[in-house]
Amino acid sequence: MTSNPNLPETELVFTRRFSMGHRLISGSSERCAMVHGHNEYVTIRLKAMQPARLDGQQNVIVPFAEAKTRWHNFIDNIVDHALQLSEQDPLLNWFQTNEPERAKRIIVTPGDPTTELMAALLLAKLNAFLAADGGKLCALGIELQETPTNTVRLDGSPDAFLPTSGRPAAQCWWHRADLTISDL
Ligand SMILES: [Zn+2]
Repeated sequence: MTSNPNLPETELVFTRRFSMGHRLISGSSERCAMVHGHNEYVTIRLKAMQPARLDGQQNVIVPFAEAKTRWHNFIDNIVDHALQLSEQDPLLNWFQTNEPERAKRIIVTPGDPTTELMAALLLAKLNAFLAADGGKLCALGIELQETPTNTVRLDGSPDAFLPTSGRPAAQCWWHRADLTISDL
């Protein structure tokens, strides 16, 4: 790193709110096995890879604006009001057969779409976006608040935390820098 050691530690923090539906079919909670929803907050923390002094004109960390637009578009237009289902959930088949257009709005997850898993998948997606934008920013972590009393916070890389899918990264939607949310 060539950055000036006297620069203060600077983080960019964005929060977005979205509504979602899901159900958890593999756990012990019968209550969570019925389709239901939450209003969630996702907060990401970013850092510039090459921190620099503000330029005296725009005074912003430049790549931040691009990253923000892309991330907010993904959360607001794709994640918001999507249904989250495990790839093992028989409801997926139902949607594909009866409402194939709506099936495209289902986030398909490797196992139950818990808050822990969604935090890791969203962080992996964010990392893919940032890498595609030239790696000028890196993600320090993510916070996913499912309810006011239940938040998952993940710092660092999600890769070792995510379940092994047995598929190459390019075949996992969370590793692709596009708006896909399933690999069906
Ligand atoms: Zn729930």
